[in-house]
Amino acid sequence: MQTLIGLTIEELSKVAESFGEPAFRGKQVARWIYRGGASEIDLMTDLPNAFRSRLQEEYCVGLPAVSHRDGAPDGTCKYLLKLADGEQIESVYLPYPDRVSVCLSSQAGCPAGCAFCATAQGGLARNLSAGEIVAQILALRLQHTERRISHAVYMGMGEPLLNYGAVVKCARMLTEEVGMSGRNLTISTVGVVPGILRLAKEKLPVTLALSLHAPNDKLREELIPTARKWSIAEILEACRTYWETTRRNLTFEYLLLGGINDDPRQAQEMARLLQGLPGNVNLIPFNYVETPEGFRRPTAGNIAAFRTALEAEGRVTTQRMERGHSIGAACGQLRRSAGLPSAPAIDRSRQLAVIG
Ligand code: SAH
Repeated sequence: MQTLIGLTIEELSKVAESFGEPAFRGKQVARWIYRGGASEIDLMTDLPNAFRSRLQEEYCVGLPAVSHRDGAPDGTCKYLLKLADGEQIESVYLPYPDRVSVCLSSQAGCPAGCAFCATAQGGLARNLSAGEIVAQILALRLQHTERRISHAVYMGMGEPLLNYGAVVKCARMLTEEVGMSGRNLTISTVGVVPGILRLAKEKLPVTLALSLHAPNDKLREELIPTARKWSIAEILEACRTYWETTRRNLTFEYLLLGGINDDPRQAQEMARLLQGLPGNVNLIPFNYVETPEGFRRPTAGNIAAFRTALEAEGRVTTQRMERGHSIGAACGQLRRSAGLPSAPAIDRSRQLAVIG
């Protein structure tokens, strides 16, 4: 059974034509699934009965099942979604006063192996299709009809730029088929240089967020094994190209780990590193995950001092609003707490081979 979600208007028009229907029926189907929230072909009431029945023989809409849901008092709602083959992925609904954002997964699991990340501990199961990424928004929209989802960030499970084709197709579909603004989409990356350079040429106005997390290669390599493949200098050069080509501001994400990378001198070192590159730094206090390294959260005092040091260097700094803390909203945490088998700890050198 194939899924309709994931097909563009053009592709759906071809499907309609293959059933001997006029192409505009494809547009109708697209409207039902991407705008109307139809979860079943039967609900597409303005399609001829015969077409609906024939469509049902080969296609289903393809919404994932909600297998777990955790809501926090601040309105954040984290979902575990079950895909057709049984893989489970996480998506988060994030309501803010001025906008509603969703956090999407781009892979089932992740090969990047970041030492502080819950998802990394299970390794990569597989890439998601464009349809499986778009479907996360559609599924969450059905759960939260009260407000319109305006923003999406690829900050759930997975490294988006290691699933390039599906992630970019999904970004286009979110603007074309779903009707969101491309400017409201953010692709967050660990720093996959070829992916950044390719994305620069896509003519998509998406925001690029770089997970920097360390002010020098030595520390970064300890935290992020992919850093052994691309140095900070190479990644920032690619970011510069992205900015020069798209004129979209960059975001530098900096995860703060107590006693590891939260010293004000490291803030100064980072400020020097980023000199001449526009973009805010977004500080993310570590969302506690049990790790062999025993990483811990920075103190409030250290966060404030780090921020002050960065701002003193002229860098606009924001702090990620801590959302859904009570429900373990860090990447990969829900899947683990839902009692799913977590794969054995990964061998980081092997993970690098996967990425290479
Ligand atoms: N692979 C991409 C996107 C997914 S992770 C990337 O690396 O950017 C989204 C963000 O959450 C990244 O900045 C990641 O480093 C961060 N993150 C992972 N584990 C975290 C944790 N335990 N606490 C806080 N942020 C975390």
